[in-house]
Amino acid sequence: MSAHVYGPVPSRRLGFSLGVDIIPLKTCSFDCIYCQLGRTKKKTIVRRKFFSSQEILQSIRAALRSGQRIDFITFSGSGEPTLNRLIGKLIREIKKLTPIPVAVLTNSSLISQKSVRESLLEADVVIPSLDAATAPTFKKVNRPEASVKIKVVVKGLESFRRDFTGEIWLEVVLVKGINDSPADIEALKKAIARINPDRVHLNTVVRPPAERWAFPLTREELEEIRAQLGGPAEIVADFHKKPQPAAAGSLEEAILSLVSRRPATTKDIAAALGRNKAEVLRQLNDLLSAKKIRVVRHKGRDFYEPK
Ligand code: SF4
Repeated sequence: MSAHVYGPVPSRRLGFSLGVDIIPLKTCSFDCIYCQLGRTKKKTIVRRKFFSSQEILQSIRAALRSGQRIDFITFSGSGEPTLNRLIGKLIREIKKLTPIPVAVLTNSSLISQKSVRESLLEADVVIPSLDAATAPTFKKVNRPEASVKIKVVVKGLESFRRDFTGEIWLEVVLVKGINDSPADIEALKKAIARINPDRVHLNTVVRPPAERWAFPLTREELEEIRAQLGGPAEIVADFHKKPQPAAAGSLEEAILSLVSRRPATTKDIAAALGRNKAEVLRQLNDLLSAKKIRVVRHKGRDFYEPK
């Protein structure tokens, strides 16, 4: 594991996904109430370089040499990846290294900027978020940096659809009582029709959120909304894939690197690292005793995160 690469992590949508993290922890234009990384201390829309591209590419090359199964190379991780102005160059360089498809997760906040749209054109899949299509609900759920306007975001997504020849999988995270009213869903439906994504993924608060009062919808509630949205909307189901062969290197380091990006259960960690559950549990207990991690209970499941 390196500072810029984690996994491959089993992902519900991307198979074994090698995460590429090009943003310092929790550098974001949003402060979503469901964020699994906690609150954003300082929101920003300023694009920067943050790290050297060589440093990041070295980490990716090393991961590609490791022989582990990788289905996607995915820009995601500690914040909003399009805030790194090297993202376009990095995607192009990865394309020279490997035929493995590249995915980018983005909160869509900067997609109205032409340079941002251009930087994503070489990706194979872009997974933009759109949790609300009206200004008041957008503010409630995503708590954006003040200059980010939802109308402009939706227009940016429409423009991106026109230019981009890869797949767009729009992700909607629904939070109970916040962005799930019939009026909110109707507004989303209209915006989705204009954006015309290849897929619409409905998700909810499945990991410990930034705000303890951000609650998930039930499967039945998600089903109702799926029916209301119609078209390509689908509920993102749980991941069921065979675990990876064991990753080399220290288990302690690997677990710390994994949980620093997102809270994970014992099962998630064992699957991501290709280790057996008992071995992972032993290591988790050591890390708990050393006060390097802690447990957070969410919806009846124990998630581990850094202390
Ligand atoms: S969920 Fe994503 S977009 Fe929202 S605050 Fe967290 S990192 Fe930013």
